[in-house]
Parts: sequence; C-alpha cells; structure tokens
Amino acid sequence: MKQEYSLKGVCIWCLKDKSAGRTFRKQPHTITRQLGATPIGFDICDACNAYFGTIGRKDLYTFSPEVALIETFTNLRFLAQPQFGAAPELRSRFFHFHPATATIHPTGRFEPKARFLKNFTRQFKRGIYEVFLQEYHRNTQNGQADCFAKVREFARWDKGNLPLYFLQNREAFYMEEAPGCPSLTFDASALKEINEAGFYQMRLLGQLFFLEVTDSARLTRAAYLRKQLKEGAGKSSSFGELVRMELITDLDFTVRSLGIRTEILEPVL
Ligand SMILES: [Zn+2]
Repeated sequence: MKQEYSLKGVCIWCLKDKSAGRTFRKQPHTITRQLGATPIGFDICDACNAYFGTIGRKDLYTFSPEVALIETFTNLRFLAQPQFGAAPELRSRFFHFHPATATIHPTGRFEPKARFLKNFTRQFKRGIYEVFLQEYHRNTQNGQADCFAKVREFARWDKGNLPLYFLQNREAFYMEEAPGCPSLTFDASALKEINEAGFYQMRLLGQLFFLEVTDSARLTRAAYLRKQLKEGAGKSSSFGELVRMELITDLDFTVRSLGIRTEILEPVL
C-alpha cells in the first residue's frame, strides 16, 4: 500500500476524514519547498494541501498564499545578500532586478495598486498562519484542537481576518537560524505562550512575527505586545518598532533601507 501522510486520519484544516472522502496521499510540505524547507507534515488532506498552493479559476486572487510567501521571502533573501553576485538572478514572478542600478522593477504580474497590495497582504498573512498550524501539528500532533478555529477560518476558508505583528529588523534583514532549511520550534515556553497568551512567536527566515493563534490573544494582546517590544529591544539593537501589518510593504521586503531602489511601492489609490 502506498504511504499515507496521516496519523490521526483527520485533516487539521477541513477536519474531515477518509469516511468523508478525504485522502492523504501527497507529501504535505509544512513550509513551501520553494523556500528551501524540507519538513513534511501529516493530517493535511490532499484537497487542503493543494488549496494553499494553487489558484482556482473562480478565485478572488491571482496568486495563492504560498506564492505570496515565496515572493516576499525570496526578495528579502536575494536583496539582502551582501553581494548580489552570489545568486545569478532574482527568481521572482513579480519583480525584475537590475544589479547595475540596484533597482527592482515590477513585472506585469505585480500591480502597484491598492487592491493588489491588499490582496498580497492578505494572502501573505494567510500563508503565515498556514505555516503555523501545519508546523504546530507536525510538532505536537494537536493541530485539530478547537482553539484554532479562527486560524482555520482565515487561512483555509478566507473568512475573518487575523492580525500579524512583527518587529522591524533595521539592519540584518536576512539572518537565517538554520540556513537553507526553515522550520519552527515549539519548545515548552512556546507552548506555554500559546496556551496562556494565545500568541505564537514565529522566527522565520530572519523575521520575527507574532501571531494571534487563539481567542485568548484578544485579552492578552496589549500586555503581550508591550512585553515583546521591550524584549526585542533587549535582544538586538537591530530590532526597531513593533508593527501591525496593514500592508505587505510595512515589511521592508524590497529592502529600501539597504539602498535598493524600487519604482513600485507607492500604491496608486
Ligand atoms: Zn482537508
């Protein structure tokens, strides 16, 4: 029999099982392979697995949550290198990079319009929450828990809206924890924070995000974020403000602050 990627037999996203026709045959990468990640998850049904990486014809968006992640982190990774020569070219659907002038230009697929940027932001945030639940389940086998209902609604069903915060990283844009192989940690203190504060602190590809993963976060938010800002300042002088992402461009993913010029990021309202 072919291997199945299932432990509990219930999908963490749609909460359906084989009796409801769900299959678990495709290898589910918990973080997209295109960012160099290798962890393989389980209990992610084939339909949900496909959903995050593809766009249907009837879809509101022109690109998937995973493409939004890939575009953002690929840019950061490439543009923040000390020397662009290390990689031959920026592999991007949305941007061309001209090394001689250190400028990026949009391709036709990136529209510098408010609506496009709003969609990009939403897809990026959904992709971040997708990574959270998949990695959480891979580490704890508890991803089907009811407390993550809002994460499911937002990431998988595109309903509601969950906030995403990050600490601005003023100097070292791309400090990879484990170069080439991103994954998340869920040690005792991370699990305690999820259970008590409803927050998860995600270190991913050099960035530090804060996610509201359960309803408790609404009550703890103010105190929790204040504490993170204080601790962030202590951790490294390169961390600046704590930002609630309204637009993807709040995260300096085109690395303006390192002198990369761009012609694209003023939305035409
Ligand atoms: Zn599913």
